[in-house]
Amino acid sequence: MAQHFDYICLGAGSGGIASANRAAMRGAKVLLIEAKALGGTCVNVGCVPKKVMWYGAQVAEAMHLYAKDYGFDVSVNKFDWSKLVESREAYIERIHGAYDRGLDSNGVTLVRGYGRFVDNNTIEVNGEHYSADHILIATGGIPTIPSISGAEYGIDSDGFFALNEQPKRVAVVGAGYIAVELAGVLHALGSETHLFVRKHAPLRSFDPMLSEALMESMATDGPSLHTHSIPESVTKNADGSLTLKLENGESYEIDTLIWAIGRRPSTDKIGLENTDVKLNDKGYVVVDAQQNTTAKGIYCVGDIIEGGIELTPVAVKAGRLLSERLFNGMTDAKMDYSLVPTVVFSHPAIGTMGLTEPEAIAQYGEENVKVYNSGFTSMYTAVTAHRQACKMKLVCAGKEEKVVGIHGIGYGMDEILQGFGVAIKMGATKADFDAVVAIHPTGAEEFVTMR
Ligand code: FAD
Ligand code: NAD
Repeated sequence: MAQHFDYICLGAGSGGIASANRAAMRGAKVLLIEAKALGGTCVNVGCVPKKVMWYGAQVAEAMHLYAKDYGFDVSVNKFDWSKLVESREAYIERIHGAYDRGLDSNGVTLVRGYGRFVDNNTIEVNGEHYSADHILIATGGIPTIPSISGAEYGIDSDGFFALNEQPKRVAVVGAGYIAVELAGVLHALGSETHLFVRKHAPLRSFDPMLSEALMESMATDGPSLHTHSIPESVTKNADGSLTLKLENGESYEIDTLIWAIGRRPSTDKIGLENTDVKLNDKGYVVVDAQQNTTAKGIYCVGDIIEGGIELTPVAVKAGRLLSERLFNGMTDAKMDYSLVPTVVFSHPAIGTMGLTEPEAIAQYGEENVKVYNSGFTSMYTAVTAHRQACKMKLVCAGKEEKVVGIHGIGYGMDEILQGFGVAIKMGATKADFDAVVAIHPTGAEEFVTMR
């Protein structure tokens, strides 16, 4: 006999935990199933450890690039990578504890093990059967590696977080968030770092101003960017080093190779063939606007939905709204996937929301789009020999100049964007931006003083 619950969440990552807790707060009897560590990708091998490494990189940059002109005579005896990893993992352990206590106080039952659907209402874990009226699939994704000879000698982002020693020479392959962030961190912490992208630039889907400014920063400060570089093969040498050969005939000897070429959904081994849940040809779950799959009573949120946005706060919000709908009578509740602000923790950081300039022109017509740009040296670095640029852009549409896109790269951009996100979500115009008195002296003030 299966144990019966109101709600089962398969996967205790960003979406699963948020949804399980909210459902339990609304009185549902909830089971949460997790195969690995609580918190999923974000907490264990994503946002959290990445941000700690990025902060480590900020400390390194402060000492190496800026301290001298602020009057500090700093000599660094050594950088201990394993100490940084130890501090990071201790922090993650504290987060695990907080999650455990949160689930406990909300009365969520946690079962550890790998869950598989037996039918539309039943999941099997460790030989036990659990059934529910409502089941959420929140199993997240995993990194992919290419199918070229020797690809197995490389590691992925999970492998990066498992490194206990700092690699001396690293190749990072990929042009998205993860490639840019990991290459930036490794370079700032002192590894000889090469970033290989297949086409002309990293972050090609972002506003062109952002990827161009990032490339300018890489050209002066590193890491070494190699454009039009398609990996052909990897070989392991007698001394343990690797040789990455590119299709253009170039080859590079490195100690560590990191594939950051995208992720795929963990939907292939969870027994979905025993349900009516439909997947697309890439394994993503087909859902409607309220996270319903094609199977009655089965829902899906997070990285594995077709056409979704792979960000933690998106999974969290979708998971919570679903629980409000299922267990709190909010029958119309649904996630709004438009105008989602996001940050790339690059060097300097990138913040972006809404339409890029080319997207706005395609949507509204060139004559209806007005773009405001600003570029300056970040004040933090204006007094130092090492300068860092800050660039900002507002994309406005229509006569009323509604702000439909906001893009920035520069010191503090990771923290600047959130508040502007509120304004844009409320439909702010350029005049609304201008009506606000600037906070001086900050980088953010440029967004309200653009001409
Ligand atoms: P996940 O968090 O991946 O959770 C899925 C969980 O399900 C996992 O714990 C997994 O073990 C479990 N699971 C899978 N199958 C089963 C099963 N059959 N039985 C039991 N358990 C199962 N997003 C941001 O917003 N900001 C960032 O800075 C950021 N940085 C990132 C950095 C990296 C390197 C990576 C890889 C991702 C980053 N992301 C970031 C993205 C973010 O981590 C994801 O969008 C988010 O974790 C997705 O949540 P989820 O609930 O869909 O899945
Ligand atoms: P991605 O889809 O953003 O980037 C993958 C990149 O790899 C693309 O630029 C693609 O052109 C390139 N690529 C694909 N196949 C390749 C190949 N064979 N050889 C060389 N390059 C190849 O994926 P990601 O960087 O793995 O990140 C996944 C998602 O996780 C992101 O889209 C983002 O939503 C999320 N994320 C967010 C943050 C953040 O919020 N700061 C950080 C990391 C990840």
